[in-house]
This record gives sequence, structure tokens and C-alpha cells, in this order.
Amino acid sequence: MTLHAAATPSPAPVTGTAPLLDVRDLNAYYGQSHVLHDINLHVNPGEIVSLIGRNGAGKTTTLKSIMGVLRSRTGQITFGGQDIARLPSHRVAARGLAWVPEERAILSTLSVKENLELPPARPGGWTTERAYEAFPVLRERGHHLGSKLSGGEQQMLAIVRVLRSGPKLLLLDEPSEGLAPVIVQGIGRIIESLRADGMSVLLVEQNLKFATRLADRHYVFVDGEIVDEVARGEVEARRGDLLRALSV
Ligand code: ATP
Repeated sequence: MTLHAAATPSPAPVTGTAPLLDVRDLNAYYGQSHVLHDINLHVNPGEIVSLIGRNGAGKTTTLKSIMGVLRSRTGQITFGGQDIARLPSHRVAARGLAWVPEERAILSTLSVKENLELPPARPGGWTTERAYEAFPVLRERGHHLGSKLSGGEQQMLAIVRVLRSGPKLLLLDEPSEGLAPVIVQGIGRIIESLRADGMSVLLVEQNLKFATRLADRHYVFVDGEIVDEVARGEVEARRGDLLRALSV
């Protein structure tokens, strides 16, 4: 891939708004396998940031490392200025981070309504009514089992479930994967409305059109490293580089 001259990801700003999430020198391992190499990234309050790159580039591992799900890692991770790198995942979540994994964690043997009501809505979090307003199809399917939903409905349910905790930062792993364009558009509108409410989003995507429509900045992953950073205003001029980063 041809890299931009300024391929080194920019450090978090030292003046102005402090980053909400700041990841420094993150290295991560599966057993003996060293899969993330010196990852530096940040997400500012109210920002949508995407991680793009081909399969196996290390995007999901980055989300797992931030959430404390993958513990075999080194580096600094701060959220709202506080160190979260040593916290177990439930305490990371309690600080205001929420993760929707690629496999859309919903409870397949429970109904849509039960899925929504199982995690109690925290102050500021989404109520069942708000979820139904955002995705009316979930109200229509309220008594259907999770296992009987389409892929798009499962994705909607997975997103609104985690919003019940009222997160400040939402980590979304390939929310558009395998979904029809009209559903992808609906999910995009919800992500934009979350940003309008002040939430920040860290988005893993391979759908470049979706990612570039939503995100303010993109980090490009290749082989467990961030090799480039592209801001919204640079996307048109850099589209070729972004496409190469995603091509197999
Ligand atoms: P994908 O979209 O395919 O998930 P990705 O960019 O998210 O791609 P990761 O899932 O983070 O990539 O994988 C990074 C590397 O770690 C890959 O080489 C992958 O094979 C390896 N890997 C991922 N999960 C495990 C695991 N549980 N055990 C061992 N190696 C793993």
C-alpha cells in the first residue's frame, strides 16, 4: 500500500479538548502470537472514529483490548483521563464504554422485549420505549425470539441493548456486515443521532462507503499496526489508499 507522507498517527491533541479515549503504545498477544504493535489512537468527545483494514488486521483485537476482554496486553489506555488499562471488563463498562461485538450478542432464547429489559436501564440510558421509537420493527417483533430475527433486526437489538447503560463511548464491530443497504442506512442514522446526543463512537468497518459517511477520522490497520490516519476532509483525495487498505 502506498502510504501518505504523514503516515504516523497523530498523537492526541495537547491543547483544546482532551480526548475521551486515549490509547498509547498498545501491544496485544494471543498466547505467543504478538498481534498488535504499538497502537496509538484517540477518540475525542462527540467524535466518530473508524478502524479500517482487511480481515485479520487487528481491529477487533483493539476493541477487545480497550474493553479489557483481552487481558494479555501492554500499554496505556485512559478514558476521561482515568487509567482503565488494568480494570476488568465489567468495570470498564461501568466507566461508560459499551461494546457491540461482531457476533451481535443477543439472547437468542429470549424475546425481543426480554432482551431489552434484561439489562436494567441506567439513568441516562435508553428505555425500551426509546429503543422502539428508534427501531419500530423491534416493537412489532417484541414477542419474537432473538433467534427468529433477521440479521438486521439482531444488529438493531444488539445496539439498543447496550445503550441501556447510557454509555459515553460506543464500540461497534462491523455493524453493517451482511445487512441489506436499507438496513445499513437505518443503522447509520441511529449512529448519527447518537453523536448528535453527544456520544462518541469507535467503529470497526470494512464497508468504506458506510465508514466514510459517518466517521470524522479513520485509522488504517495493516498487520496489527496503524499505518495511516485519514480525516474526513482528506477522504476524497485518499480514497485509493483506503481502498487498497481494504483489498485482499
Ligand atoms: P476480522 O474482521 O477478520 O475480525 P480484524 O482486523 O478484526 O479482522 P482480529 O480479529 O483482531 O482482526 O485478528 C488479528 C490477528 O489475531 C489475526 O491474525 C487473527 O488470526 C488473530 N486472532 C484473532 N483472534 C484470535 C484468537 N482468539 N486466538 C489466536 N489468534 C487470534
